[in-house]
Amino acid sequence: MSTKPYKDFSPEWYQETAPNRSYRSILKWGDPNFHKIPKEKLFKLVKAEFGLTDEYFQQKREMGLEEVKYDIPSKLPKEQLDALKTMVGEKNYSIDDYDRLQVAYGQTMLDLMRLRKHIVENVPDVVLYPDNKDQIEKVVAYCAKNKINVYVYGGGSSVTRGTECMKGGVSLNLQRNFNKVIEFNEINQTITVESGMMGPTLEKILNNAKENFNAKQAYTCGHFPQSFEYSAVGGWVVTRGAGQNSTYYGKIEDIVLYQEYSTPIGNIKTDRTPRSACGPSLDHIMMGSEGAFGVLTHVTLRIFKYQPENRYKFSYMFKTWDDAMTAVREVMQGEFGLPSVFRVSDQEETQMMMRMYGITDSPLDSLLKFKGFKDYEKCLLLGFTDGEKQYGKNVYKNIRRVCKKYGAMSLTGFVTKSWEHGRFTDPYLRDTLQDFGIMIDTLECSVNWDNMEQVHVDVRKYCKARPKTICTTHISHMYPQGGNLYFIFITPLTELDEFKAYHKGILDAIQRSGAAISHHHGIGKLFAPWLEGYIGKKEMGAIAALKNYFDPDNIMNAGGTLGLDLTEKQKVFTK
Ligand SMILES: Cc1cc2nc3c(=O)[nH]c(=O)nc-3n(C[C@H](O)[C@H](O)[C@H](O)COP(=O)(O)OP(=O)(O)OC[C@H]3O[C@@H](n4cnc5c(N)ncnc54)[C@H](O)[C@@H]3O)c2cc1C
Repeated sequence: MSTKPYKDFSPEWYQETAPNRSYRSILKWGDPNFHKIPKEKLFKLVKAEFGLTDEYFQQKREMGLEEVKYDIPSKLPKEQLDALKTMVGEKNYSIDDYDRLQVAYGQTMLDLMRLRKHIVENVPDVVLYPDNKDQIEKVVAYCAKNKINVYVYGGGSSVTRGTECMKGGVSLNLQRNFNKVIEFNEINQTITVESGMMGPTLEKILNNAKENFNAKQAYTCGHFPQSFEYSAVGGWVVTRGAGQNSTYYGKIEDIVLYQEYSTPIGNIKTDRTPRSACGPSLDHIMMGSEGAFGVLTHVTLRIFKYQPENRYKFSYMFKTWDDAMTAVREVMQGEFGLPSVFRVSDQEETQMMMRMYGITDSPLDSLLKFKGFKDYEKCLLLGFTDGEKQYGKNVYKNIRRVCKKYGAMSLTGFVTKSWEHGRFTDPYLRDTLQDFGIMIDTLECSVNWDNMEQVHVDVRKYCKARPKTICTTHISHMYPQGGNLYFIFITPLTELDEFKAYHKGILDAIQRSGAAISHHHGIGKLFAPWLEGYIGKKEMGAIAALKNYFDPDNIMNAGGTLGLDLTEKQKVFTK
């Protein structure tokens, strides 16, 4: 991507396509040919915060450009491998080292660090690329009978070691072939798809519903996680993800209508009706199961009218974090309708965004200073509305009213447009900076309003106790009762043990502060030791009983997922 050339020193950012079959081709985020480099002002901020010199940026580190090579043979007996090959067909079967590593690691920082260091572990024995539900059902039944471990790889964007094959066995890569539309139903306003369908494919199909299905109008899926371009519908559902527009459309669990799973005890189907009172909701039991109960095969989603022309964009600057938080809570509790994207940045993030979006040193920056909005005190709110025109207008007008009440200055929709421009591409910066040993990672948690500031203070305190660390935070995915606090930490860090200790400390701080350890990233194997400490022992017993019912031999995503097969010693209790 072309960024304005730097006026002063510029590092030689790596902007080439990663070599074929290299570690880098697995670790690199997104489009192999797309690269993003920081704007000069942001680069200077990073340099200044970390006290780094131009010399530091002369040398790149651990790039992962070498070809993937390791010595972990496929352990399944030939007769089982042959049986699995017959089920999916030769072209949908691989025991190639590269293919095995590619599905084992996702986008967890630990994965990226291990790949840069050529550390290979926990790969499956075989990768299968099923074409249809029938094949998945046969594979799962065969594996259940023969006690072969089964893992699932959707988009591979997990940040919780979700896809890692701790016990070897089979990995089902659903992305390549299991991605077709099963049914579009305009009367019910739903679409049913195979779970390996990637976000952009789904959205394009819905936006072009008139051409594709002779529909009366265009639709949208309403679910746009930052990883949207490189994640799949199944991954969204089983991790209980949230899109950036979730304040209006809801989390994925609000969007799912119906699911089918292939489990070791057979196929499981949920209720197709919009709401029911037929006992506990199987839909909710299965959502969030992260491949530990079975493979999500078909999923039916509610869809929404696609009407971007009705969007009202807004951005406001507040003098203080307190004002900003009070205002967004009042909006969320206003009962006049909900914005779609709605996110407010804390003081440190606002400073960073001003640089990223070209406001620092602009006339707008001068005006803000003139009006008393101080650096490292002011806080940025941005967002837009979705839905019917008058609805959006009403929400927009009310947001303006509330923001004015708390002394905010309107920055028009300009900042929101800049944010939109980078909303799916900012993660590319992670690879660019990590080439120089600077790590960017994130953690997020769900918090009630009455505890929001405490969590913010506690977690930041821990993050910032590490010298030379930028820690920015925003509240997004808001509700009348609270929202998601999202922490981004940036620091020079290249050693695995150091990373693990720091990461553990942040999760401890989140849990101690009373927040839920995940609002939308899921639990995976990485957060698993904290789960029981958060939900409680008896409550954990309910999840374990379900696991035992669906998967009595623990073959589905075994090795820590959801904390289901951890020893007492491995669990973290902080409450
Ligand atoms: C840069 C970046 C930004 C992100 N932003 C967001 C965000 O805004 N919101 C958000 O919610 N998340 C976000 N994430 C996290 C991640 O994208 C989500 O968890 C996503 O829902 C995972 O989908 P996936 O298809 O990539 O799943 P995968 O990574 O392939 O798998 C995730 C887990 O689900 C299991 N799984 C996948 N498909 C199935 C299936 N069909 N049946 C059973 N189990 C299955 C896997 O085994 C694994 O345990 C982000 C990640 C990155 C790297």
